Amino acid sequence: MSAFEYAPALESTSIVNIADSYKLFINGKFVAPKSGKYFPTINPATGKVLAKIADANAKDVDLAVLAARNAYAKVWGKMPAAERGKYLYRIARILQERAREFAVLETLDNGKPIRESRDTDIPLVAAHFFYHAGWADKLQHAGLGDSPKPYGVVGQIIPWNFPMLMLAWKVAPALATGNTVVLKPAETTSLTALLFAEVCQQAGLPDGVVNIVTGAGATGSAIVNHPGIDKIAFTGSTEVGKLIATAIAGTKKSATLELGGKAANIIYDDAAIDEAVEGIVNGIFFNQGHVCCAGSRLLVQENIHDEVLEKLKIRMSHIRLGNPLDKNTDIGAINSAAQLAKIKELTAAGDSEGADRWSVPCEIPSEGFWFPPTIFTGVSQTHRIAREEIFGPVLSVLTFRTPQEAIEKANNTPFGLSAGVWTEKGSKILWTASKLRAGVIWANTFNKFDPASPFGGYKESGWGREGGRHGLSAYLKGSN
Ligand code: NAP
Ligand code: MG
Repeated sequence: MSAFEYAPALESTSIVNIADSYKLFINGKFVAPKSGKYFPTINPATGKVLAKIADANAKDVDLAVLAARNAYAKVWGKMPAAERGKYLYRIARILQERAREFAVLETLDNGKPIRESRDTDIPLVAAHFFYHAGWADKLQHAGLGDSPKPYGVVGQIIPWNFPMLMLAWKVAPALATGNTVVLKPAETTSLTALLFAEVCQQAGLPDGVVNIVTGAGATGSAIVNHPGIDKIAFTGSTEVGKLIATAIAGTKKSATLELGGKAANIIYDDAAIDEAVEGIVNGIFFNQGHVCCAGSRLLVQENIHDEVLEKLKIRMSHIRLGNPLDKNTDIGAINSAAQLAKIKELTAAGDSEGADRWSVPCEIPSEGFWFPPTIFTGVSQTHRIAREEIFGPVLSVLTFRTPQEAIEKANNTPFGLSAGVWTEKGSKILWTASKLRAGVIWANTFNKFDPASPFGGYKESGWGREGGRHGLSAYLKGSN
């Protein structure tokens, strides 16, 4: 009998309309960049150019900050909170109506599987706007003081791994709390942010409340250093987070920094192994492992190591890598050539430092950027693949004998964003969670997100929280 094969189930791209080039969104209008420069954005699954994007310089950022300041002083800052909430509800509903368009565009520009952009990213985006819409007129009841006040103009800089979701995490709470925004999407994934600019127009959002300036690191730096910015909200690498912290030291700017991670996913020997295997796969292979809170360090109790690894390899053999627009695809493309090079460099270090590599035997498409789901066993604490964020579909497997050893190994990292714990015993979950230095801890599950739940890190994983009541306080003066 021949092997069972899936028939292709391609999502149509006819719902999206990609222009040849995109301008900046400043003061409610699309305007050509003063820089006169554009850069290409590509589809990482094919390597082909999708469109040209405006490259904002300091002058463009200046105009965006001015528009945001005017909107704050004249309209948004004065508007009754219930009115602000109505705009957020309107945006949330439009995002739901246009969900398919956003999902397809996200998959084209980012390389993530349509199954994830359609079922995870975009529904969560709408949920964030709905959640924060509800808070807009209830801030005085949030336990953050009687009359919490916005900062004013917020500069927001986001990464490429969840382009629209990171935009929602930033824009929704900023607007709900009465701030105006200058946002820079990541260089490789600007298209959904620019589609969001259209949604702002469609919702009739007052001009200048949301401004979107596209560009590379220099554009981000111009936002960080602009004297008209009251607060910076950044999500990205720890390296750039440190540059931002240094740049704003000695200024009045406030900041939240959501940075990298190297999460431990701890499997005790009394865990339900089949469920844990699903959780391991979800923890590291969701979104090609381009996830700050990915369970990238597997800590397995030594006596179940062989059984877990055997089951994990069988499960991984069923992962389907390929065209992100195919509804059967589990693993899409790596977002950029640069990220692929970083993954290759770190995995080569895994080989040379003596760990054992195993990759899913799968066909790699001839165009675009791809990396097969991979695990390294025989990893020790000193290996680079145990210490550094790979940000790709690569799992480092370590073992432990006692719960105390699991905690010590889990906490032995400069990061502290998330962790997972798998055991049948509730008391062990609580004991473990109380000892882990991580902002988010999942028990018998992984990668669960909800707008009501605060998210953020310890140590080099960042400052502040996003989501929930804690996330509101990050946008209100004197409350955090
Ligand atoms: P990145 O290089 O730090 O970039 C993040 C954003 O900062 C991008 O928009 C980038 O622009 C911009 N940027 C680069 N240099 C800058 C500078 N000197 N000043 C101001 N802005 C600058 O990070 P990434 O590689 O895109 O994203 C991956 C990282 O994000 C990982 O470390 C991941 O863990 C982290 N992350 C954290 C969370 C969280 O919530 N904790 C969530 C998602 C991702 P360009 O696009 O042009 O480079
Ligand atoms: Mg792209």
